[in-house]
Amino acid sequence: MTSSTAPQGAGHGVIALLPERCTSCMVCARECPDWCIHIDAHQEVEPAAATGGRPRTRNVLDRFAIDWALCMYCGICVDVCPYDALVWSPGRAPAEGRAPGLVHEQQRLAGNSPEHAGR
Ligand code: SF4
Ligand code: SF4
Repeated sequence: MTSSTAPQGAGHGVIALLPERCTSCMVCARECPDWCIHIDAHQEVEPAAATGGRPRTRNVLDRFAIDWALCMYCGICVDVCPYDALVWSPGRAPAEGRAPGLVHEQQRLAGNSPEHAGR
């Protein structure tokens, strides 16, 4: 779990998703006080790694979105993620309001990641 502290000198920054780390566990969506995280996922069965072994199921992320019109930038989702899949980034926060355009989907949230910031 990473710190909920927003980056200094950049307002409250934005939250970035590192999708390769996300297991679709839903912890962040359940703990978000504003219910502004939307996650869809499905399960896939992987064949057993060895003869006689059991097949494994894994979650596959289909959708991860944050509604910035509802987000309070409290950082709880960053704090509770067991896999450090959510991080603060020094990017600019979306404008306030209640427009549908403030729901940012997975690809855009991944673009907030620190390695993309400033591009
Ligand atoms: S920072 Fe926003 S998305 Fe994360 S828990 Fe708080 S309100 Fe929800
Ligand atoms: S808590 Fe982390 S791993 Fe779980 S769904 Fe949220 S971002 Fe993904």
